[in-house]
Amino acid sequence: MAQGLDPPIAGAYGCRMSSYPINGAVLHLKPGRDKPVRGRHPWIFSGAVARMEGAPAPGDLAMVRAADGQSLGWATVNDRSQILGRMLSWEPEAPVDEAFWRGRLGEAMGLRAALPDLGLRREDGACRLVNAESDGLPGLVIDRYGPYLVLQALTAGIDVRKAALARWAAELWAEAGGRACAGVYERSDVDVRAKEGLAEAVGPLWGEAAPDVLWIREPLGRAASDATVDPPQAESLKPGTVLLPVDIRSGHKTGAYLDQADNRRRVARYAAGRRVLNVFSYTGGFGLHAAAGGAAALTQVDSSGPALALAAQALARADLPIAAPELVEADAFQQLRRWRDEGRSFDMIVLDPPKFVMNAGQLAKAARAYKDINLLALKLLDRGGILATFSCSGLVSAEFFQQILHGAALDAGRDLAILERLGQGADHPVRLSFPEGAYLKGILGRVA
Ligand code: SAH
Repeated sequence: MAQGLDPPIAGAYGCRMSSYPINGAVLHLKPGRDKPVRGRHPWIFSGAVARMEGAPAPGDLAMVRAADGQSLGWATVNDRSQILGRMLSWEPEAPVDEAFWRGRLGEAMGLRAALPDLGLRREDGACRLVNAESDGLPGLVIDRYGPYLVLQALTAGIDVRKAALARWAAELWAEAGGRACAGVYERSDVDVRAKEGLAEAVGPLWGEAAPDVLWIREPLGRAASDATVDPPQAESLKPGTVLLPVDIRSGHKTGAYLDQADNRRRVARYAAGRRVLNVFSYTGGFGLHAAAGGAAALTQVDSSGPALALAAQALARADLPIAAPELVEADAFQQLRRWRDEGRSFDMIVLDPPKFVMNAGQLAKAARAYKDINLLALKLLDRGGILATFSCSGLVSAEFFQQILHGAALDAGRDLAILERLGQGADHPVRLSFPEGAYLKGILGRVA
């Protein structure tokens, strides 16, 4: 199906083989290995597969059958991946055709349209529109930044259809968001593609090219409402919002950490009057919100020069009443250790490190890294200080993260009281049948 379109089929499986899209490919599960699929988990590991009937190319569709012959639904398949099948539908009778894909994209956008406070119709808003498995579209991520969409194809099943998906998403987004889509850009430069036998892919998929830097507007914690359409106003600082710079062509992920948008707003509510340290700042989103929320001073640390250059642009553009913010390009572990040795202190610290755990084998080492960085932060905080600390490693559970933090607090000789538990925003929903979709956890606590 390299052309990326599955021709429509009429009626049930097998009744019109001539227009059948997949040469009758059937994935037969081993006896007793159908339980996860019946539980609506979307992944079929190669070890659960007895045999593949037909010779589907990577990304093709296959009917999934239990050992007793019962048809369970449709999956895209890829024999180069350990996850051989990705369930798309649990309706064997219904075709996976253009209407199916459009339906799924439309549902995902409908979910965002129903979210309070997301501001889907704001012209310079940003959010995740499609969150892969959690939106019934394994392997597909689509983020929206103002008039541009950024698409990530994480699996062969999505990769072979991405041109059509980009076109449909642009069209459906225009309906859901009430404004035209300017362009869809691909950012499939992610390591997981190697596990699917796919090379990295970056570039325009549809429409016009995005500018070097896009500015997206995020509401502040105390903003009354961001759910309405913007009234026409001066472009720079609308009351109750900040502008964040996004480089969709070479920024991290699809350009920004949209999963932290809610938390930037929530955490900054505590910033007033505090000397804030934002560690692993990227383009400085938490810091910008904190400064706008009345922070007395701001220091941001990141190892990425380009990210800090954007952070500087954002602060200059916002022109907030705060003493010259300090931007430090350094390894966070070394820098915090240096400041600890110098006896420096802060009243609020945000720790939002990158993913430390890629596989279960790295768990112990990552736990030590989380403990280390949190211990250092706790030592830099004065009594009454606020720590907002995160882990985006899916393999570190919320309970385990809390235990690590407890260990760090004990070693630092501090007590930490949890004020708020934080997670990914509602535009990154988690399906009960796919608990792996919950990866971001955070604790906002007060140091005693
Ligand atoms: N808080 C940010 C997202 C942080 S992502 C936001 O809200 O937008 C993690 C960041 O950590 C990245 O910007 C990455 O450049 C940085 N990073 C990774 N390893 C680092 C290290 N050892 N020291 C400092 N920064 C690091």
